[in-house]
Amino acid sequence: MRLTVLGSGTSVPHPRRSASAHWVETESGTLLLDCSGPAVHRMAEEGRDWAGLDAVWVSHFHLDHVGGLAPFLFGTKHAPQTRGRRKPFNVFGPRGTEKLLRRFDEAGGYGLFEQPFPFEVKEVAPRAEFELLPGLKGTTLSTPHTSESLALRLDDRDGTSLVYTSDTGYTEALAGFARAVDLFLLECSFFREKPVKLHLELFEAMELARLSGANRVMLSHLYPEWDGVDIPAEAKRFWDGETIEARDGLRLEV
Ligand SMILES: [Zn+2]
Ligand SMILES: [Zn+2]
Repeated sequence: MRLTVLGSGTSVPHPRRSASAHWVETESGTLLLDCSGPAVHRMAEEGRDWAGLDAVWVSHFHLDHVGGLAPFLFGTKHAPQTRGRRKPFNVFGPRGTEKLLRRFDEAGGYGLFEQPFPFEVKEVAPRAEFELLPGLKGTTLSTPHTSESLALRLDDRDGTSLVYTSDTGYTEALAGFARAVDLFLLECSFFREKPVKLHLELFEAMELARLSGANRVMLSHLYPEWDGVDIPAEAKRFWDGETIEARDGLRLEV
């Protein structure tokens, strides 16, 4: 499994961190973890095969995670690069994903559901197991962030695994969910004294890292409060393992 960080930031405009999007490649295809507004162009900027993208995972309906989905579908509907595409494209997300997209579609009469290729929205429940790509199993966990928000565990048939928390408050259930995972991709919105309960700050993220027994940790969804902080060094104070700071453009073999 290979990961490219497209957006390590949040809804707050930032010169070096665009909003949430992480690109995953396996032997059988490609998957985008959340589709922020900037993600649509970040895929092209990083030279990723956006026209061949197989699936998008929507973790929840905050616009820094889903704001690019309708624009992306507007692009694929009309772009020369997707005119000849026939392989299916799937959007996976919590209950309500299709309604959200249909409402947006109806507001402008865009015809987003009529694509040159088969397109489906597949809604998944918490604790569901499903196939995201051939040989890539997804499992979900409800998280304390919004009523629909879900964390996603990916288990590839080559044996590698990744957990993407997306936005979440603190719950030890996430540590069990990410047990011994190869890469624990955690949100870590704030350094310390977080202003809201429904996100994580550093010591909480590191506590989850420790409890999970994850091989490596990547911290993403970083608010501008993190600017100028040596994140791996600060993380070491709470957990001994390898912590990677997500940066836009970073590529990693999981
Ligand atoms: Zn967010
Ligand atoms: Zn959110």
